[in-house]
Amino acid sequence: MKKHLLSKSTFLRGLQCEKSLYLYKHYYELKDEVSTQQQAIFDQGTEVGLLAQELFPGGKDASPSSHFKMHEAVLKTREFLEEGETIIYEATFQYNGVLAALDILVKDEEGWKAYEVKSSTSVKEVNIPDAAVQYYTIVNSGIDLVDISIVHINNQYVKQGPIDIHQLFNIESVYDRVMALQPKIPLEVERLKNVVQKDTVPDIDIGPHCDKPYTCDFKGYCWQHIPEYSIFNISNLRVNKKFELYDQGILTLEEINLTQVTFGTHQHLQVEREQNGETHIEHDKIREFIKDLNYPLYHLDFETTGAAVPIYDNSKPYQQLPFQYSLHIEQEDGGIEHREFLAEADRDRDPRIGFIENLIKDLGTKGDILVYNQGFEEGKLKDLQKVFPRLDQEIDAIRKRLKDLMIPFKNKWYYTPEMKGSYSIKHVLPALVPELSYQDLEIQEGGAASTIFGQMVMGNFEGDNQKTREALKAYCKMDTWAMVEILKILKDLTYDRE
Ligand code: SF4
Repeated sequence: MKKHLLSKSTFLRGLQCEKSLYLYKHYYELKDEVSTQQQAIFDQGTEVGLLAQELFPGGKDASPSSHFKMHEAVLKTREFLEEGETIIYEATFQYNGVLAALDILVKDEEGWKAYEVKSSTSVKEVNIPDAAVQYYTIVNSGIDLVDISIVHINNQYVKQGPIDIHQLFNIESVYDRVMALQPKIPLEVERLKNVVQKDTVPDIDIGPHCDKPYTCDFKGYCWQHIPEYSIFNISNLRVNKKFELYDQGILTLEEINLTQVTFGTHQHLQVEREQNGETHIEHDKIREFIKDLNYPLYHLDFETTGAAVPIYDNSKPYQQLPFQYSLHIEQEDGGIEHREFLAEADRDRDPRIGFIENLIKDLGTKGDILVYNQGFEEGKLKDLQKVFPRLDQEIDAIRKRLKDLMIPFKNKWYYTPEMKGSYSIKHVLPALVPELSYQDLEIQEGGAASTIFGQMVMGNFEGDNQKTREALKAYCKMDTWAMVEILKILKDLTYDRE
């Protein structure tokens, strides 16, 4: 069997950017490394794919012995079909230089049907060319498909007892949309096969296509000429406007002529302050914010974890479940006390129970609860109210005491160029308290904490559990200590002026 020139995934890569396809085929070593979190997402996809096979039990698996031996899968699929099998997992076909592996191929009384499994919670636009090239390859290999569907996660499913896979998944036919795309597929296949066989890298500059529909994994290579802090970091600026500036040869904020380019108020402030290096402070608003605080102050931060396939009863796919908090309790006289909670990583014990019971105890009944990005914590508390109606009143009381330390930064009452247009605590902290840093911590951001705890729950975490639990605590503690320090800076500012 002649080796294929395109696979389904390289076909999609080529549709996004010919250069990405070419680099992938000829300069694979330039590809960005896969991060631990991306790998966790891929692993989750594999888990979802395997679970979806149970929708059509008893099938034959055509998977190859290694990803580099896809021809084995083609031969196995052919063999299964000849033997009269009617359910085939990883059914793989090759036609006209294109190789496509389908998650589940099924024959029922109506004929052959194709099912492609996605971990997303709806059919995405990018799934249609994906299914269309599959249809093209399968039908031209002699299987007359009567339907092709995307199997995706149903995010309305609430787990109660063992997973009900018929509730967990939605099956949505994309047959009509796939058929509408069919006339284009052979043309695109030819175009992309030509790209692969070129002698030189396609001359394509960076553009909005670098992140659409996926973030390209050659950005590390193609975006080398973009400074670490650039026009692409202007907050909330439309991507097209960023590339308008780029096309004029403007890369840094210093190069922007503010008399010629119109920005929103916050964007203007970001550019202007980068150019003059000055800090912007609205003392009156900050003073009002500080005056409005009621002691003792509870600086609180949650960490959450979620999985495509819910682990605990009364939870939905991807629902973020709180498993950890850090709390710095600050008295008006400056006294500070620290409390924390980190649930046991146990798939048989819902972390939310210990979390909320301890939180209620630790938060007492008086004083404001300061969080950073209130919408997040409030959303999780609302979820907990639904799951634990017996604690409804206590949780409601907590919600009423919440205040958001992000407000002065989100509203740009305090903005310094070091914040680089961001009001996230990861940018605000080094700008305000440069001696405090996440850099020395083993875990440096919430996404990593969430992934690690999820892996611990599933029993597939490969590091030292005890050491990593300490690292999780240190990370969460830093978030609330950062809040204490940030508030201190704000308070100092207002004292100066009184
Ligand atoms: S980074 Fe952009 S230009 Fe470079 S290969 Fe990827 S999509 Fe193409």
